Amino acid sequence: MNDCPACGRVKNPAHYLCSRCWYSLGPTTRKSLWRKDSLAAERLRELYQAIQRDIPLADIKVTP
Ligand SMILES: [Zn+2]
Repeated sequence: MNDCPACGRVKNPAHYLCSRCWYSLGPTTRKSLWRKDSLAAERLRELYQAIQRDIPLADIKVTP
């Protein structure tokens, strides 16, 4: 998937979002999404689900 799910712009395929959207997320959410543990896939699912519900990027919260 090479389109940013939040804004549709081209993004780095290795990243969840384009850099502009990534930095629109809250710092706590970004920190959680960096963590690579058994919950990483679950956090990504929460992120994309929140985007689909049109929750503003700055308000998205994922599992800590
Ligand atoms: Zn974007």
